[in-house]
Order: sequence, then structure tokens, then C-alpha cells
Amino acid sequence: MSSQTVCFHCGNPFVPNPRVKNQRYCSQPDCQRARKREWQKRKLAVDPDYRANQRQCQRDWHAKNPGYYRKYRQDHPRSARRNALLQKIRNARRNPSLNATMDAFQTAPVNEPGAYYLIPVIATMDASTQKVFIIPTD
Ligand SMILES: [Zn+2]
Repeated sequence: MSSQTVCFHCGNPFVPNPRVKNQRYCSQPDCQRARKREWQKRKLAVDPDYRANQRQCQRDWHAKNPGYYRKYRQDHPRSARRNALLQKIRNARRNPSLNATMDAFQTAPVNEPGAYYLIPVIATMDASTQKVFIIPTD
């Protein structure tokens, strides 16, 4: 008799393939993509050879596709603005001395309905106020 387990990604029950040891994800395409993303994230973190190889592949791809991201930003201005804001936040988190400049930094105005990310601002001096950045999700 086969026993069910719960998918790590979607949470639905599934019957693991007996040939796959410790199967944590079901066979749904979204769940398999999530599994692969997790695998790659971990591989990049622990394997310097894999990381170097991926970096070289990205460089080769950029060399073959010059201007791809410039055109993407022109064609998707909303995504470009969102990505620029998220990058500023990542930069500030990586380098705490940049946090002072984050106060002057303008987030997306919330004047249209839609989905937004609320990104907490870290290391504020006044713990009684909660500042967040509001970033459109698309
Ligand atoms: Zn699943």
C-alpha cells in the first residue's frame, strides 16, 4: 500500500514515486519549478564551481543579447521602476550605512488599486513608528 505525503510547495497530498527517495514535491509543473528553484538557490550558495559556471553562462548570454534589458525596461516601465526600488532596498540592506539615504527615497504612490509589496524599513531609530516601502507587485 502506498502512503500519501504533503507537497512542500502546494500543500496538496500526493503519492510519492517509490523510486524517488524523500520526494517532497508533487508532479504539478508549478511545484516542480519551485523544487528546481530551491535546488538551484542552494547549489549557488554551496558550490563555487557551479556559481562560476552560471556566471559565465550569464556573461555569454549578455554578449549574445546586447541591449536586452534596456529594451525590457523601455517596454515594461512599471516593472523597471519596481525593480529599481527593490534593488535600492537590497543595496541598503547589504550596506547599512546607506540607510540614511533611504529616508529621502520616494516609494511608489498608492493612488490606484492593485497588489503591492509592503517592505519594512530596517534599523529605524524610532521603534514606535513603522515605516514600510510600498512597491507594486507587477
Ligand atoms: Zn505540489
